[in-house]
Amino acid sequence: MPTPDRRLVLATRNAHKVLELRQILAEVLERTGLELVGLDDFEGLEDVVESGVTFADNALLKARYAASATGLPALADDSGLAVDVLGGAPGVFSARWAGPLAQAAGLGKDEANNALLLAQLADVPDEHRGAGFVCAAALVLPGEQPGSTGEEVVREGHCRGVLAREPRGTNGFGYDPLLVRPDGRTTAEHSPEEKNAISHRGEAFRALAEDIGRLLC
Ligand code: IMP
Repeated sequence: MPTPDRRLVLATRNAHKVLELRQILAEVLERTGLELVGLDDFEGLEDVVESGVTFADNALLKARYAASATGLPALADDSGLAVDVLGGAPGVFSARWAGPLAQAAGLGKDEANNALLLAQLADVPDEHRGAGFVCAAALVLPGEQPGSTGEEVVREGHCRGVLAREPRGTNGFGYDPLLVRPDGRTTAEHSPEEKNAISHRGEAFRALAEDIGRLLC
């Protein structure tokens, strides 16, 4: 009898994300005997175009592709910043909010995204500066036929705050220097451990851990 393949694929090429998720999912991985691996464990996989209009759409697109291409259960996430007065934007466009012109202006991507968002909200008073990070985390099982997919679950996590008037803090990435938490610090002023405990990604994957335990025991 061949040994069963107990790998659980995380649809990312970011080794840092694989390590972070191994920590968040440590208990369920140990209980189920699953090994979390990234896409770099496999040859010939393509990059999925994130063409969805919601975080859940994009997470499912990535997890479905990984499950059908590998024949293994797959996880994926998609996240971003949703600003109340912008009706939830930048949303799924968070990574590319300032567009390619930003680089032409000599700014880094995160720096340009933050500068544009601050300019857009310059006249918005403090009481209307609510915003939050959102994460959709998806689990997709492989189907019976090669190349097909089976059961799917999506869980969401949130991390709320208000937007600062200028960037603060050097930890984290993306919009972390702008999101002020109830303790008065931005998420870029939190240590990585503090952020993991309250992050949208942590909340979404801790919820998904229950599904992993139930479906993959
Ligand atoms: P991804 O789906 O996790 O790759 O996130 C897409 C984009 O959303 C990132 O490039 C950031 O601009 C933003 N974002 C997502 N999560 C965070 C976070 O934890 N802090 C700050 N920005 C984030």
